[in-house]
Amino acid sequence: MVKKVDTVVLDTLKERLKEIFGYSQFRGEQEIIIQNILLGKNTFVIMPTGAGKSLCYQLPALVSDGLTIVISPLIALMKNQVDQLTAFGINAQFLNSTLTKGEMTRVKNDALDGILKLLYIAPESLTKEDNLDFLKKAKISFVAIDEAHCISEWGHDFRPEYRRIYGIIENIGNLPIIALTATATPKVQQDIRKNLQMEEAETFKSSFNRKNLYYEIRPKKDTKKQLIRYVRNNKGKSGIVYCLSRKTVEEVAELLSVNDVRALPYHAGLDSNTRMANQDAFLNEECDVIVATIAFGMGIDKPDVRFVIHYDVPKSLEGYYQETGRAGRDGLEGNCLMFYSYDDIQKLEKFNKDKTVTERDNARHLLNEMVAYSTLGVCRRRQLLSYFGEYLDKDCGFCDNCVKPTEKSKVQDEVVLILNAVYQTEQRFDGEHIADLITATDNQYVKSYEHDKLDVYGKGLELNESKDFWISAIRQLVILNYLEKDVENYGVVKISEKGRAYLNDPYPVTLQKDHNFEEEEVKAEDEEKEAGTGSAHAYDEALLGMLKALRKKVAKEKNLP
Ligand code: ADP
Ligand code: MG
Ligand code: ZN
Repeated sequence: MVKKVDTVVLDTLKERLKEIFGYSQFRGEQEIIIQNILLGKNTFVIMPTGAGKSLCYQLPALVSDGLTIVISPLIALMKNQVDQLTAFGINAQFLNSTLTKGEMTRVKNDALDGILKLLYIAPESLTKEDNLDFLKKAKISFVAIDEAHCISEWGHDFRPEYRRIYGIIENIGNLPIIALTATATPKVQQDIRKNLQMEEAETFKSSFNRKNLYYEIRPKKDTKKQLIRYVRNNKGKSGIVYCLSRKTVEEVAELLSVNDVRALPYHAGLDSNTRMANQDAFLNEECDVIVATIAFGMGIDKPDVRFVIHYDVPKSLEGYYQETGRAGRDGLEGNCLMFYSYDDIQKLEKFNKDKTVTERDNARHLLNEMVAYSTLGVCRRRQLLSYFGEYLDKDCGFCDNCVKPTEKSKVQDEVVLILNAVYQTEQRFDGEHIADLITATDNQYVKSYEHDKLDVYGKGLELNESKDFWISAIRQLVILNYLEKDVENYGVVKISEKGRAYLNDPYPVTLQKDHNFEEEEVKAEDEEKEAGTGSAHAYDEALLGMLKALRKKVAKEKNLP
């Protein structure tokens, strides 16, 4: 499928970047990504929100002959991008249900006449018969699939229509594809590759570490009071509060308003005019806090959001990461606070009642990861990055678990036992079943094995620890990279290179106690009584230090004094 491209085109990309967009530098791997797609090769781009994915298809679209098709899940997203491109003097349009028949004909004619460079299409429109005929006639350079995670049921916003895209592209012609997403879990990535039949595609993945974001989780108790205090302490700053239901959105927006906070609600139950008006008010700083369901945010590019609060526990870590990612896009302060309670998890589980068995299993798996993230005492950033397949070799120093660590313990026999158990079961068990085995919990999985012949069987009980301890320890060993989790394969854990070396030459490993939110509630209350404010000094100091460093960095980049 490799196309012949004028090397001049590849060599002058930087000049075109400056000429068209006014940027003097490519960010991260943008240039080599653009070269890859220009060579006609399938390309897979995984970058966090705000990293600059759009440019990876916009610039090659402009230097290619013909029309580039961009598939995008939301009308608001398309409109936003078309407006931006038009402002740059680029001929871009969208094709979706908001257009009249006449407008559609005009757009199609422009495309066929070769005037149009980029055409944004919703997946639903793509599958329409007359659009298909038109696409077959047009001269198309390549297809970009934005927000490609919508293909996967394992992602956080699955769109069934996205699964039909590949068939259509095949029907139109053998076109190179560039798929882009900010979802980095290996499972979702694999789904995308499979569905788009681009297993061979070169993958460009940049780090998901958002160094300026402070992650924090508090017990969900007296949440309203905590919320008001938090928002008041951040008076005048832009923030988003995410709630699960429309009803809670309305209540919380009202609560903040009566407490002198300029807050507005946003959810799919509001009519589109109100939604638009509230979104604009937020973007134009007429309101400070937007209280919203997850309907709010995709494609919203407000650089100075200073905090994102999860009033309710989100359904998945992907969702959490995306939503928290809307804070601090300018590289400055960004605080991510989530209120956690197991009640929320149970509520979310109830929503899955009517789903198919597979969907329910997926949803439960995602929730389990959410519970683990919330309760483990390990550095939040290490946990998040580990979930996205990235390994951070030390604690970040800039999250609540780093700033106010839970109790630590040094263990060696326990680690050796776990690694041996993984080894003896031939790396075919997931973490929970390993814990079952060493605590002699005889369920069907353990029994399916000749467990009584293994010398690790029941050994965990001799070390006198609860099953919860073992589950937590195994999770921590994954984050610390002694074990690797095979997400493609039901979360089976395997011994990593580091783990193998460890077995030859073991040493004490520091593990962190899990959070016990019930207990912590009491502690928080005590602190509040003592300090009178409830704010933790350690946190404030870490934040101040980090902020100073960030300000310096930004000032240097922008040549400010
Ligand atoms: P993503 O889709 O990855 O979330 P966007 O494509 O919306 O991110 O880009 C985020 C912001 O970064 C935009 O405002 C865009 O103009 C800007 N941007 C992208 N590439 C560059 C670059 N090379 N130099 C400067 N700004 C850039
Ligand atoms: Mg984008
Ligand atoms: Zn940390």
